[in-house]
Amino acid sequence: MRGSHAKTAPKALTDWLALESPNWQPSYPFPNDIRQPVVTVLLTAQRGLCVYCGRRLNVENPGRFYHIEHFRPRSTYRHLAVDLHNIVLSCGPEDDERIPTETCGNAKEDWFDEGNHIEPVYPDCTNRFRFLLTGEITVALEPDEAARTMICVLNLNHRELKKDRKDILDRIDGESLDLSDFIDSDDGTVQSYAHVVCQHLGSALP
Ligand SMILES: [Zn+2]
Repeated sequence: MRGSHAKTAPKALTDWLALESPNWQPSYPFPNDIRQPVVTVLLTAQRGLCVYCGRRLNVENPGRFYHIEHFRPRSTYRHLAVDLHNIVLSCGPEDDERIPTETCGNAKEDWFDEGNHIEPVYPDCTNRFRFLLTGEITVALEPDEAARTMICVLNLNHRELKKDRKDILDRIDGESLDLSDFIDSDDGTVQSYAHVVCQHLGSALP
């Protein structure tokens, strides 16, 4: 899991939530003029990456290439449906080639286990996992049933994720790539799997 940095609710969201009255309660989905500032805040907090696998999100097509993910699913946690602390961005139902996604929010669906999960908060969640040179993600420190469960529920050892991570780590060790290929120090933009590279090189994700 890649996790999200701290986030602050945009004014548009807090103003909208403050309109709550006995006659009206804010509910999901967000109106368009609320949705956009929320997505902008989340993108910044996640450095543009999927909160689970760390691939760069394609924000061209909401609901298809990325989606607004409720960590605690709306079906069981209705009161958290518009709570920014429960909302992250994840890979959408399809990848760029329009192939159904088999990982992340799409794999997790409405799963939740209150007693056995890891909150998607960087760097605490990231540090519960370790990336092997084979591309595999594993538990950083056994025993960690919650980390093991998250790998399984989010399908983080999907063949494509493993292949991508192995390729990147091979190229880092072969010195054809280095940290500067993943992080733009001028504007803070990061590329897919920057968290994997940072961990491998003992660096913190900015
Ligand atoms: Zn993902």
